[in-house]
Amino acid sequence: MNGWVRNQSDGVEIEVAGPAGSVGDFVSSISSEPPPLARIVKVETIDLPYQRIEGFKIISSRALQSRSTLISPDVCTCPDCLRELLDPRDRRFRYPFINCTNCGPRYTIIKDIPYDRDKTTMAHFKMCPECRREYDDPLDRRFHAQPNACWDCGPQVWIEDAQGNRIAARDEAIAKAVELLDRGSILAIKGLGGFHLAVKATDEAAVSRLRSRKIREEKPFAVMFAELGDIRRYAHLNGEEENLLKSMARPIVLLTRREDGSGSDLAGSVAPWNRYLGVFLPYTPVHFLLFDNAPYRALVMTSGNQSDEPIVMQDEDARAHLSGIADYFLFHDRDIYIRCDDSVSRVLTGAVRPMRRARGYAPQPVFLRDSVPSVLGAGAELKNTVCLTRGKEAFVSQHIGDLENLETLRSFEHSISHLERILEIEPELIVHDLHPDYLNTQWALRQGGVPRMAVQHHHAHIAAVMAERGLDGAVVGLALDGTGFGTDGTIWGGEILRVDKLGFERLGHLRQVLLPGGARAIKQPWRTALSYLWSIDPENVERGYADFLAAWPTGDVKIVLRMLDRRLNCPLTSSCGRLFDAAAALCGIRTSINYEGQAAIELEQAIEPDEGLYEGRLESGPDTILIDQLPIIEALIEDVRRGVPVGRIAARVHNGVVRILSRAAVIAAERTGLNRIALSGGVFQNAYLSQRLERELSGHGLEVYGHIEVPANDACISLGQAWIGAHRIMAETR
Ligand SMILES: [Zn+2]
Ligand SMILES: [Zn+2]
Repeated sequence: MNGWVRNQSDGVEIEVAGPAGSVGDFVSSISSEPPPLARIVKVETIDLPYQRIEGFKIISSRALQSRSTLISPDVCTCPDCLRELLDPRDRRFRYPFINCTNCGPRYTIIKDIPYDRDKTTMAHFKMCPECRREYDDPLDRRFHAQPNACWDCGPQVWIEDAQGNRIAARDEAIAKAVELLDRGSILAIKGLGGFHLAVKATDEAAVSRLRSRKIREEKPFAVMFAELGDIRRYAHLNGEEENLLKSMARPIVLLTRREDGSGSDLAGSVAPWNRYLGVFLPYTPVHFLLFDNAPYRALVMTSGNQSDEPIVMQDEDARAHLSGIADYFLFHDRDIYIRCDDSVSRVLTGAVRPMRRARGYAPQPVFLRDSVPSVLGAGAELKNTVCLTRGKEAFVSQHIGDLENLETLRSFEHSISHLERILEIEPELIVHDLHPDYLNTQWALRQGGVPRMAVQHHHAHIAAVMAERGLDGAVVGLALDGTGFGTDGTIWGGEILRVDKLGFERLGHLRQVLLPGGARAIKQPWRTALSYLWSIDPENVERGYADFLAAWPTGDVKIVLRMLDRRLNCPLTSSCGRLFDAAAALCGIRTSINYEGQAAIELEQAIEPDEGLYEGRLESGPDTILIDQLPIIEALIEDVRRGVPVGRIAARVHNGVVRILSRAAVIAAERTGLNRIALSGGVFQNAYLSQRLERELSGHGLEVYGHIEVPANDACISLGQAWIGAHRIMAETR
């Protein structure tokens, strides 16, 4: 076939001439075998009268009025570049920044559009004649590869010790890094979207030193393995998980650890008390070099930050903030313009479920069913992301973090202005959470000139599912998480809603309990457990449950009981996350936590096979479906007293929660006449509960929709907010 191809600002235009069958094959191959970085959104074809064309040409780009091309995420080193990287005869042999049009940094180095080298952090590297030739040659793999570079003209690496002395540079720096890692040193390594802290994963002393210096007591570390075969020694791996690990986004994938001991050389403090292991494969040339002929096969690679702050991306900040943690620094002189953490994903019921969406995915849009006005969703407080809509695209930012300090707020503001600039979006409306105290709510209220709108947290959760799954009309939504500000001023988190494009109705919820001390109860699950005991029998807690109270801090127990009696600093909550907290504390798994969701996560991991269940109670009045979970806790207490093994109790709690929630959802579906149910909220990161609940709801004939593009946790809130805001504008202007 002959013809031509050209880039347009809204996609690619191709004209081909040839036998009808070949043309048909060609068109279908665009969708079935696209080039590595192509994202085929839609193929439109027009038949033209036959015209004889000579050869096949790349013709120059044409700019159109509406600029809607997409900015690529950062992409892992491609097989061609990897081959050159390890080929002693290649001019880029062991060059740590090798890349081509199919791979390399993108989003994290782009300052502005159009995407040209002078608008990236590569601007000050002048290409040598050989790189320039590749860059200008349409037939070369590096034609218009903006970060193109080599040993002679591109970025370089070097190593500094913690005192700032440069101890090795260029290829020697890589060799030195391998040697230091093998000796058990902690290295801060500058990557694509920020710094990693790296340490040999089999060296217990080194890993626990990293833990204590980073003040990260128990939250699991991710491990980068040299190859897929190494991962198989430590974790179970199915085909979908393998594809996800090898995908160009190279996320961290959560796998189930092998318990047969074959991977027992991994340091115990990598992921204490954890059945899962977060693993990933090398994705930059620097990573591949660090594993090339190295004496180790696995490195802990964790975000370079101090516990609650955003990942460090600038050299000065690394020297200032990481020098108390890292023994050495592996720097390079290609600046990171925008922060981007590693993405985290897992496979559940055959589908990829993102848990943190960042490098490799952002800023790819979520495609919407309808074209909508431009709106900014400012996201939730925890696991914050922002979202900007443009036509049928919803650009959800990379994971920004917990908006609890100024550094993260700055990163939030930078992400918004950056996305607005590179996507050319001026939002008509800013949507924020209903909670008045969140830093992003306050930020939204300070933005003059643009209308603002508040949206309830769980409404946004369900709307996010509708947005990404293209659901029209109304659905029943089951939103289960830890905390979200409700329209009645109480804390919601176990909600059944009816949601459509314009609003929502609260159909039902978990029974409310008191949360003694508010935020302190989240850090100390025993407080919620005590509140549950108090709800069961307020007059008789100290005598009736002395056996449970004995495990908790005695003085504090008395204070909390007084708080409960007087309703002092005890907000009401219908939170499902707190229900699991209480259960975990009552069966002795965890009374206080070191990271968000820890008690619930450990309760899930404690599960041993058991089909028994604790029955909850439904009290459905004409107006609301009240899910009473107290009987579940009462049954748990009996089993604890009878000495039933904790793993079986954990299973029965989960089975009971699944049963009562699905019964409530079925009633909601009957009442509303709706057959589709959308699931969202951090509780759905619980694999056991998700799988069972989905199965049970489908068993009742309901169509079940969960998240597959954005996380089910609060990272999806910005998408839901923007979608609701956009539909509100459309309704008002119609
Ligand atoms: Zn490449
Ligand atoms: Zn060069």
